Amino acid sequence: MQSYPDVKLFIDGEWCDAAEGKTIPVLDPATEEEIGTIPHATKPDLDRALAAAEKGFAVWSQTSAYDRSKLMRKAADLLRERAGDIAWMMTREQGKPLGQSKMEVLAGADVIDWFAEEGRRTYGQVIPARAPGVLQMTVKVPVGPVAAFTPWNFPINQVVRKLSAAVATGCSIIVKAPEETPASPAELIRCFVDAGIPAGVVGLVFGVPAEISEYLIPHPVIRKVTFTGSTPVGKQLAALAGLHMKRATMELGGHAPVMVFDDADVDKAVKMMATHKFRNAGQVCVSPTRFLVQDAIADRFMEGFTEAAKAVKVGNGLEDGVDMGPLANERRIPALEGLINEAVDRGGKLTTGGNRIGNQGYFFEPTVLTDVPTEARVMNEEPFGPLAVINRFSTLDDAIGEANRLPFGLAAYAFTGSTDVAQALGSRVLAGMLTINHLGLALPEVPFGGVKDSGYGTEGGSEALEAYLDTRFVTQKS
Ligand code: NAD
Repeated sequence: MQSYPDVKLFIDGEWCDAAEGKTIPVLDPATEEEIGTIPHATKPDLDRALAAAEKGFAVWSQTSAYDRSKLMRKAADLLRERAGDIAWMMTREQGKPLGQSKMEVLAGADVIDWFAEEGRRTYGQVIPARAPGVLQMTVKVPVGPVAAFTPWNFPINQVVRKLSAAVATGCSIIVKAPEETPASPAELIRCFVDAGIPAGVVGLVFGVPAEISEYLIPHPVIRKVTFTGSTPVGKQLAALAGLHMKRATMELGGHAPVMVFDDADVDKAVKMMATHKFRNAGQVCVSPTRFLVQDAIADRFMEGFTEAAKAVKVGNGLEDGVDMGPLANERRIPALEGLINEAVDRGGKLTTGGNRIGNQGYFFEPTVLTDVPTEARVMNEEPFGPLAVINRFSTLDDAIGEANRLPFGLAAYAFTGSTDVAQALGSRVLAGMLTINHLGLALPEVPFGGVKDSGYGTEGGSEALEAYLDTRFVTQKS
């Protein structure tokens, strides 16, 4: 029988406890049982991690892209081999069904492989010179030690994109992984350690997020900051990074619109979107949230989606046949209840769900609200839970107007049988990512990021590496 580990910090090539010996408990969100602890890092630990990252950068930035790539491929293979055990840990700490955890771990291995290969293609340029005998070129050099802050909803996926981009480009990185879900990201890092990554290239710390970010971001050793989490926190960290002239990538909140036009395949849209909505209990930055359905098919869509929500089997993610686990932490329950009650008070219709399930574990009913006024909070704030809002629209302009109304601009979805409509959406919807008639987001080779309050920079595709590279211009005369 597998047991949940007491996770350690990883500093300067060693797994260790915190200098002051303090720990933080880890809970299973399905049972509320304490399943382990993590060390609580404070300044002495962070100072050691920073010194190690500086040393690790000196070594790793001088290691060839070819050798970095080989090591990464090995780490990816180890992650695949260990996927079953790591998925079990992830389900215990985060709650998502075991199958979803396993997919996340395996997808993490794909991310490592992709960055391993792309890291070998960080080409510079030779620029034609004005004078004979002059050589002008650009070379891509790693930006330096990175501080990464990642959330609890995808404990591996959120780390692996940052870690892989840093390691592939020759940076070192200190990961402040989520305190709620620490074991699976620690196991990800163990794969790199077991693949032979030199001491100091990768560090792992836990503690009080604000204390760690306020210490690491301004520190002169850190040259780049990358954060995934909520928009308010992202704005604070981006401001701090700006104040200290640090490069930053911000992957923040969203409120994804789903536009379903009356020429779409309605049954396909219902089926695909209901599965997608309740994946990871809706705790996903690209989760479909504001469903906008054209008048002629709106009732049919609302009924179909409500039935699909009722059919979702909620339970402990370790049990067979469970579609949706608990919320990852207790604070999401009052947050969701508040949004739902306020929407109903304003005249929205609750067609299913709306309540916590039981009183042990953070289970919540898959919930559907329809015909909710625009002023309701849920139409404006990211619900980050198993909650869909379905409203009606009449014209293409109405749909695009509503889709673009909010300050967020992360993911957007659409279903239409018309290529003209699809093209109009492609040029007019203000989102970092738009997927039409299928689910095509979050592959390692395609961009992943937002615009407006959803942040800046991308964590996928070749541009993701650019964020970890400086362009150095070198000119010489023979
Ligand atoms: P939160 O804003 O307290 O925290 C979000 C994440 O940021 C957590 O991982 C947290 O540890 C980290 N964080 C918070 N303050 C920090 C700081 N000063 N420095 C560094 N890291 C810090 O919210 P929460 O209750 O954990 O989650 C709820 C909200 O967070 C959701 O509504 C959603 O908007 C957002 N969120 C987004 C994502 C995403 O994938 N974009 C993931 C998790 C949470």
